[in-house]
Amino acid sequence: MARYTGPVCRLCRREGMKLYLKGDRCYSDKCSVTVRSYAPGQHGQSRKKVSEYGIQLREKQKVRRIYGILEKQFRIYFEKADRQKGVTGENLLRLLERRLDNVAYRLGFASSRVDARQLVRHGHFTVNGRKVNIPSFLVKAGDMIAVKEKSKSSPKLQGYAQNLGSHNAPAWLDLDKPNLVGKVIALPSREDVDLEINEQLIVELYSR
Ligand code: SF4
Repeated sequence: MARYTGPVCRLCRREGMKLYLKGDRCYSDKCSVTVRSYAPGQHGQSRKKVSEYGIQLREKQKVRRIYGILEKQFRIYFEKADRQKGVTGENLLRLLERRLDNVAYRLGFASSRVDARQLVRHGHFTVNGRKVNIPSFLVKAGDMIAVKEKSKSSPKLQGYAQNLGSHNAPAWLDLDKPNLVGKVIALPSREDVDLEINEQLIVELYSR
């Protein structure tokens, strides 16, 4: 399964905001966006007039990078969102939020979406009691997402479990902290996606 393997902090600097791709480091003063708050590359510090297309493109790239999705797959999500009833942009965000790697991250079982993706790939989670190692697996209302019994002894997951005390899962997920189980109460709404995203710009980009 293809994924971006280059330097991730560069992506945040390119988008001019924190995308929280590196776990704890993102909350420290070592964060590259804090240290060098300009775009990477030779012309990163020069001011450029950005076209309407450029603004739309940046918004799409930002969302793609937040959720760690390559262009082709992102386009497939968009087409799926467009076929659904309702507002396309909101449908798109709802689909992305429902990915298993995102859900594991939102439940606090991983330090970032990148980390969650790796944990899912390594088979540390179950959905309704069955092992699922596909990061793009879409959860639905009523699903139970749990850390696999055997994986609870992994030092990494034990560390995340200890930090759950201060973690607040979004309203569409119910987190049982002692048992490391999350339940999808309902599908996420637009308000549940607490990221600075203007999804309408993505719709406009793909409608060109
Ligand atoms: Fe982005 Fe995190 Fe790197 Fe900061 S530390 S630039 S938020 S990935």
